[in-house]
Amino acid sequence: MIGEAVTIERDADVRRAFASDASGLVLVPDGVARPTSRDEVAALLAECASSRTAVTCAGGQTSTTAASITDRGVLLSLRGMDRVLEVDAGRRIARAEPGVIVADLKRACAAEEMLLPLDPTSEEDCTVGGAVACNASGARSLRYGATRPHVRGLTVALADGTITQLRRPLLEKNTVGYALAHDPIDWFVGSEGTLGVVVEVEFSLLPLPEQVIGLALPFASEEAALRFVVAARESGVLHPRCLEYFDQLALEIVRGAEGARDWAGGASAFVYVEEAPPRGMAPALDEWLALAESCDGLVDDARVYDSESALREARRVRHAVPAHMNERGDARRAFGGRKVSTDWAVPYHRLGEAIARARALAREAGIEQAVIYGHAGNGHPHQNFIAHDSEELGRIERVVEATLREALALGGTVAAEHGIGKLKRKWLPLQMTPLQLRGMEAIKRELDPHRILAPGNVL
Ligand SMILES: Cc1cc2nc3c(=O)[nH]c(=O)nc-3n(C[C@H](O)[C@H](O)[C@H](O)COP(=O)(O)OP(=O)(O)OC[C@H]3O[C@@H](n4cnc5c(N)ncnc54)[C@H](O)[C@@H]3O)c2cc1C
Repeated sequence: MIGEAVTIERDADVRRAFASDASGLVLVPDGVARPTSRDEVAALLAECASSRTAVTCAGGQTSTTAASITDRGVLLSLRGMDRVLEVDAGRRIARAEPGVIVADLKRACAAEEMLLPLDPTSEEDCTVGGAVACNASGARSLRYGATRPHVRGLTVALADGTITQLRRPLLEKNTVGYALAHDPIDWFVGSEGTLGVVVEVEFSLLPLPEQVIGLALPFASEEAALRFVVAARESGVLHPRCLEYFDQLALEIVRGAEGARDWAGGASAFVYVEEAPPRGMAPALDEWLALAESCDGLVDDARVYDSESALREARRVRHAVPAHMNERGDARRAFGGRKVSTDWAVPYHRLGEAIARARALAREAGIEQAVIYGHAGNGHPHQNFIAHDSEELGRIERVVEATLREALALGGTVAAEHGIGKLKRKWLPLQMTPLQLRGMEAIKRELDPHRILAPGNVL
């Protein structure tokens, strides 16, 4: 029976426990629902549709854009739906409920020698449902793409409480109707909880790579390092699965985290490369070093990570950069400051220009330069600024908006990874035309006519 199985908790402590995510904002919901089955989700939605009560989904609440919190209606936490339903190496699929932590599902797949290619840095804390809803990506998305291409099937509870099952068509050619309508799975992936509630996901899997090596390649200048990134993308021979850039400030943090302050003394930047050669083939170590040398790389100081534990260590050290900046940002909260992180991207061959313009804007505004690091292979760096107080925060936000305009002028996007949520909604019209926005509104109207799902997210 509709509504009977679902309790909406009104206790103040429970509501406060779900009132924050990684955005730094606090929004206290009117109630919290913690279903353990898809039927409970459906019942809740049907009830909320008839009472016109807003429903905002939450998974791990790692959203940096306040997408997983609300002060309107019910916060629907999917964490209780946390069963891995199937990992089938033969059919190369995994099925899971939305509350499964991404890293747990990856480990379950790895135990069957299969790779789930999702790669958000937050994988130990974020859920499968959240990754689908945000189309999460990461360093290795250079090779594997974001979450979207790996979603083979979705079960979604719609705003009126009906459950629908969607499967990707396996067609290679199709001329029927508008492309927009070819595959409704794509409506839900990346929709940030605004079109339906993901209650089950089927992912397609890849075989685990036989061998992976990592390489940290230092360069004397930012220009040389970014030239190397473009050369690697265009080599036609080398097949990196990630190409991550670290500027001078990020390099200093990495040196500190490694306890190796004297590593690559002449360097002012480095690129971290990971390669997973096809089965039966050796990693192209010499070719990588030769390419780096041709771009003035300091190859004598290159580091090679060629075991599982060494690769884990490389990952830990790289994560020291955002962790260090988070700590610095948190220390300024009492003064109205915080860390400000950008998520813009440009076509990879224009990244050098984009970073130069971004640095010039910061210089002109008289603010401390951001630490710049991240997914250079996809033209997608993160700039981490520290606002020391509320006045500086305002200046940084103006610089960020000017930087986004520059990125767009170079053919880029304002948000390549973390979505729009509530905090970046103001920038949507900078990028999308009125026609595109009306198209999105039309889908929203059709799927959620009373606009109960995730009010304030995206639209
Ligand atoms: C330290 C840190 C590092 C990060 N690194 C990355 C990164 O490398 N790559 C990246 O892409 N992101 C990254 N993020 C952002 C965030 O982790 C991802 O967007 C992640 O996919 C969100 O998952 P979640 O389970 O935490 O979702 P939540 O934060 O709980 O929710 C995010 C959005 O998904 C919706 N949602 C959640 N579950 C469902 C569901 N079952 N059905 C429908 N909608 C749902 C919510 O309504 C909300 O709009 C990072 C965040 C942090 C704090």
